[in-house]
Amino acid sequence: MIVPNALTVDVEDYFHVSALAPSIERSSWASRESRVVGNTKRLLELFDQFGAKGTFFVLGWVAERYPELVKDIATRGHEVACHGLSHRLVYQQSPEEFRAETLRSKEVLEDITGAAVLGYRAASYSIVRESLWALDILVELGFAYDSSIFPVTHDRYGIPDAERAPHRLSTPGGKVIVEWPLSTATVAGFRLPVSGGGYFRLLPYWVTRWGLASINRREQRPFVFYLHPWEIDPEQPRVSASWLSRFRHYTNLDKCEERLRRLLGEFQFGTAKDGLAQLGLLSSASQSAPSRKDLHQWA
Ligand SMILES: [Zn+2]
Repeated sequence: MIVPNALTVDVEDYFHVSALAPSIERSSWASRESRVVGNTKRLLELFDQFGAKGTFFVLGWVAERYPELVKDIATRGHEVACHGLSHRLVYQQSPEEFRAETLRSKEVLEDITGAAVLGYRAASYSIVRESLWALDILVELGFAYDSSIFPVTHDRYGIPDAERAPHRLSTPGGKVIVEWPLSTATVAGFRLPVSGGGYFRLLPYWVTRWGLASINRREQRPFVFYLHPWEIDPEQPRVSASWLSRFRHYTNLDKCEERLRRLLGEFQFGTAKDGLAQLGLLSSASQSAPSRKDLHQWA
């Protein structure tokens, strides 16, 4: 049995990105030119061309403004999952703030699609060692899996020695959640982030291809790949930011779509939910989890 790799998209606009946050006031978001709908639709068309299904972790801020986009994602057979509400980093929130905004985002998405939202991905992978408490809140809110832990060293995220494969994870509060960490390849004992985003744009394509193929062939398991709609948009308005942030955000935007086409042609993809179910990590009960409205009736 071949378990498909998870094709995931973090649905947000270019002005939500953490690397550019120091240069962009939150209060300016609403007045900036939004490009998320057009860019996400381009990804949807591309995925349709290759018959690829994926998981879209939608930012609540986007879902509240563009519910039709979320409907479109679901209607085309993709999984709708949650990318939080505000794109605030988890470790910069209190547990109460995190609970309130994550619940609001989950409810918005479930109201639009009429289906239970099972998956969560934190803004900028900000579930790190000091914010593992967030996993307990995700279980409380009815999430079945998380895909926020990046088992690498980075200035803004990462748990360098975290488990690399999809697994069941014990939370600090003694609960259990399924975790699909962002994929890394191993080279001579080092972990190389090859799972998408900036790494996909900055590294030569053959590095990504080699790294992902080694997870499939050598490790015999699926990888999770991620991208943002703004990464295929070289026309997006430019924001002044630090040299490093501009390098990370703007390099190879014009090459990304073509690379994505190659990737979609060379690997098999599906939703994170289906991949985890095929790995035996999600029970069929959580796959057909009741919608929030049903849960409310039982409560
Ligand atoms: Zn994000």
